[in-house]
Amino acid sequence: MQAITSMRLVFSEPTAQPTTAIRGRFVEVALPTPVDRVFDYVVPEPLANRARIGHRVHVNFANREVQGFVVGEKSESHLLRHQVKDILSAPDDEPLVNQSMLRLTRWMADYYACSWGEALQAVLPAVVRTGRKRRTITVVKLARSKEESLARAAELDPVEAQAPGSIPGIEKAAMPPEGKPDSRHKRYAKILRTLATFEDDFSPHHLAEKLGYSLAPFNTLRKQGWLKFEKLEVDQGAIGALSGSPERVPEALTPDQEVALAAIARSVDRDEFKAFLLFGITGSGKTEVYIRAIARALEHGKSAIVLVPEIALTPQTVRRFAQRFENVTFLHSSMTDGERRDAWTRIKSGQSRVVVGPRSALFAPVKDLGLIVVDEEHEHTYKQDSTPRYHARDTAMMRAKLEHAVVILGSATPALETWHNAQAGRYELLELRTRPTLRNSNLGLPDVEIIDMSRECHEQHAFTWFSRRMRGACAQALEDGDQVIIFLNRRGYHTLLTCEACGETVACPNCATHMNFHRQLNKAVCHYCLETRDFPQKCPSCERGPVKQMGMGTEKLEEELKGIFGGFKVARMDSDVMKTREDYESTLEAFRQGETQVLVGTQMIAKGLDFPNVTVVGVVSADVGMNLGDFRSFERAFQLITQVSGRAGRGEKPGRVIVQTFKPRHPAIVAAARQDFRAFAEWESEHRKLSQYPPYSRIVLVTVEAKEKPKGDELARQITNTARDFSRQFSGTIYDVSDPFEAPMARLRGRHRVQILIKAKGFREVRAVVDRIQPLVKVQEKLRVSIDVDALDMM
Ligand code: ADP
Ligand code: ZN
Repeated sequence: MQAITSMRLVFSEPTAQPTTAIRGRFVEVALPTPVDRVFDYVVPEPLANRARIGHRVHVNFANREVQGFVVGEKSESHLLRHQVKDILSAPDDEPLVNQSMLRLTRWMADYYACSWGEALQAVLPAVVRTGRKRRTITVVKLARSKEESLARAAELDPVEAQAPGSIPGIEKAAMPPEGKPDSRHKRYAKILRTLATFEDDFSPHHLAEKLGYSLAPFNTLRKQGWLKFEKLEVDQGAIGALSGSPERVPEALTPDQEVALAAIARSVDRDEFKAFLLFGITGSGKTEVYIRAIARALEHGKSAIVLVPEIALTPQTVRRFAQRFENVTFLHSSMTDGERRDAWTRIKSGQSRVVVGPRSALFAPVKDLGLIVVDEEHEHTYKQDSTPRYHARDTAMMRAKLEHAVVILGSATPALETWHNAQAGRYELLELRTRPTLRNSNLGLPDVEIIDMSRECHEQHAFTWFSRRMRGACAQALEDGDQVIIFLNRRGYHTLLTCEACGETVACPNCATHMNFHRQLNKAVCHYCLETRDFPQKCPSCERGPVKQMGMGTEKLEEELKGIFGGFKVARMDSDVMKTREDYESTLEAFRQGETQVLVGTQMIAKGLDFPNVTVVGVVSADVGMNLGDFRSFERAFQLITQVSGRAGRGEKPGRVIVQTFKPRHPAIVAAARQDFRAFAEWESEHRKLSQYPPYSRIVLVTVEAKEKPKGDELARQITNTARDFSRQFSGTIYDVSDPFEAPMARLRGRHRVQILIKAKGFREVRAVVDRIQPLVKVQEKLRVSIDVDALDMM
């Protein structure tokens, strides 16, 4: 136990200093409080064997019953006799977390600036924590008709109702004389309206999060008979039928694969911690190397964890692993609690030795961990965007270190941080340079063409979304009986609603972002908070001009393509239409079977899919997201284009990729078109180095969210000043503490957002400065602060 507590000074802080310690059987309990400390409790005799290290316990904390984990045992406490309380209960016969998981979570708390208790919460699937057995999920529904509900909403919050299609600004005029409706009433109205508008299966939790509410208004509405919570039976075989032809098992590896596998196998055989970067384009055979490395670990009686981005957990991936290994466990977010708990038990007992899943699968309690694979390691979904804000790739490194396991990071477009580590020799670089299925020239890479859209528009004498090349290539492919994928990273119909007179776009009243027009709903929708508006007759800003639909989203794209390629079937995949796993699977299956010929979609279709009949991939606009002021936006654009391009030419026929852009000479786009990662990395590194961004520094992004702007600004200023004062002690190794600046998403769900960016040399400096600012982080309803170490999402 010494090892754990000494990793950082964890203190059971005495509130008063007693002269002598009291003796007895005590445990230190980590609770999910924002403050990082442990608390002493007494172990009553009947619980002696159920409240040991790693056990879950229930205790009384601040007059509430709270669940925590025992992280230390001791025979004396510095608390006063009347202050120590007994543990209330201990539900499990066996510890839920072992020593190495305790150490890993302790590290997470240190590194990601959260409490040990919060880190422990994150590693356990919800159902194990609560121990309840459920085979259903809860969804929230209107208890009465849509009309009644909307009428009720109008009573509660008449403001919006009196001005259908109203937008901020106009609202004021429609304000009822009796003044503002109660904010609670507004919330009730909003919930009813949202449910009447989107006929979705929202879980109460998910909807509350979207709207920025607690669960309280849902419960009230339910008590009043306006909402009902329904249990939805979830299909047990959630992974779906494994249809399609079985995967051919390659007889021989390519020379590059041989070299890579040999290096990995050597480390697996030696039980040593070692990290590899397996760098190779899509289709170069990375997965085949993973599979054989896993087989090697299994031969030694060890287990393996494979992390994939959630969207890559497609039937294709599943089929591949299921076919090659017995007793693979697939974890995914749409599992029921019951399924998740069964899986956990199977894994813990050693019955299942291969686990495949997204981010949180990293914490699967496998027996004798030998290997962790992080596929598509550059994916941002590996970073959790709520506390603890851990990165699964980096946390995987730590877990592997603690358990003497091997890590393989795989990518065609490694994150610059990873590339840097490989260049510095911290990870061993293994490269797969060709596609094993190569039948055609150019290393089996598709032919990528960049289309200059400003020239295209000029030549066509009109603004256009489709170049002649793109149309021609698609038409040709379809006539030849091939398939086509068209990619656009933007949902909706016409994306923006823009005033013809003043040029303003219709903005969300709660968030600093524009609203998107969705034709199916016939409404403008905010993708962040689900605010909806009718199509405005007049510009809400100048109240003069007519509002016109501008831009192009996937919904509109689908419709246009249906018009252009009349005789062919077009399917769309984005999060608007893909509500469930079944939707996703059936759409893919229809495409695989050739029932649909054109697939249109967002990043959902950018990765992991392997369709041999696709010969043309079109990127409608490579520029989406390039101007967001995020220092990683070029990297993201590069990754996206490279990945999408990898969808073409995976079969016997050569592939063709058409990338449309208004920046045809931008280095990121040129490099992506050539699939030249090294050129991109070199160019991008220069810029990062000059401005001291990662990998040439570590960053901490502090975000202050406030209902009242001056309060937020004041706290942000205080944080900056504190960090700056402190940084003087670290002469030169805390590179920069920024002034508070408005977040790119300056308002979100009605809160003003200010950020501070800190750049420092290494972990030590980051930790030190975070320690200083953490005391300023108070948990208040009106003022929230988040500290994001190694931030990826800069919004
Ligand atoms: P990646 O994971 O890099 O995208 P995969 O491992 O999925 O690549 O391989 C792409 C395709 O090539 C798959 O259909 C796979 O079965 C096949 N393949 C992989 N290695 C070989 C090999 N050595 N010989 C023949 N085919 C192979
Ligand atoms: Zn919004």
